[in-house]
Amino acid sequence: MRDPPLPPYLDRGDGHNRCCQRRFWCIADVCGVLCVLITWLLIGYAEYVVMMILLSWPHSVMRGIHLVLYNTLTVLAFSSHARTMLTDPGAVPRGNATKEHMQWITSQEGGVVYKCPKCWSIKPERAHHCSVCQRCIRKMDHHCPWVNNCVGENNQKFFVLFTFYIASISVHALILAVNQFVSCFHTEWKECSIHTPPATVILLLFLIFEGALFGIFTLVMLCSQVQAIWTDETGIEALKGEEVRWRRQQRWKSMRAVFGRTWHHWFSPFTRPVLSGGGGGGLRHVYPVPTGATHHGDSVRLLDSGSIDSNDSTDSESVAAEMERRTLSTGDMPV
Ligand SMILES: [Zn+2]
Ligand SMILES: [Zn+2]
Repeated sequence: MRDPPLPPYLDRGDGHNRCCQRRFWCIADVCGVLCVLITWLLIGYAEYVVMMILLSWPHSVMRGIHLVLYNTLTVLAFSSHARTMLTDPGAVPRGNATKEHMQWITSQEGGVVYKCPKCWSIKPERAHHCSVCQRCIRKMDHHCPWVNNCVGENNQKFFVLFTFYIASISVHALILAVNQFVSCFHTEWKECSIHTPPATVILLLFLIFEGALFGIFTLVMLCSQVQAIWTDETGIEALKGEEVRWRRQQRWKSMRAVFGRTWHHWFSPFTRPVLSGGGGGGLRHVYPVPTGATHHGDSVRLLDSGSIDSNDSTDSESVAAEMERRTLSTGDMPV
């Protein structure tokens, strides 16, 4: 099934953070690439032990069921990981905070428009700047080195599925490994695997450790992500205790916005929900960088967001309060 077209704010314009002829989103971060390789290595290790030791029983229906189930979950986990890593999380076009642009937007929408001084973009509501991706990301939840990418509006579904499928194969491998351990105690260890008994014990113990560690880690992550979607508040917003100025979506509406309208799409890492480009930010997200434009930051209605990520507001009182609060707390000044 083909993905729906990307919304216009997900630009492929300047090739920043892109590879393979700009087809895929890639972050050039050494730590992230290492974490991704470790993730693949751990998935591969679990696959090897499960296939060579845990499911090396004589052919039976039960073995067939476990084999199909485990491998299906592994393929889905790997696919979810790849899609989280290679999907634009919702990057705002760089360098579109130009004088002309700002004037045009304020004339169209009114209110205050924020720019990011780091990537020089017009900062939509609920966007935050990521120092690793060097971009402002819409509805950024956090930057995850295990997927070498930000988790944002456009790839949160894949990340949630990644945690779900990793938790599933961890629990599955744990059950199989404990079962194997118990059965090997009651028989000869030599008959338990093609490896020597010490090697079998070491392989099984490491798999149990890996399954328990990553099972707990991904289950905690899964719960926090589902809660964030359910309450329509990202991890970074909750962490900073940001004032809720956006209109919270209804809970099921929020779930459907992330996972898709129909149930059979919810667990598939091969489909992406159609994004509206909305989220309360209005028109200002969609403008590309004007060609030949120069950077100015002198709009009366423009605010630098500084190192503290921020959102805009259309309410003059709350804007004034926000300006005062930010001036006091961070030293940032309105331009
Ligand atoms: Zn930025
Ligand atoms: Zn990032």
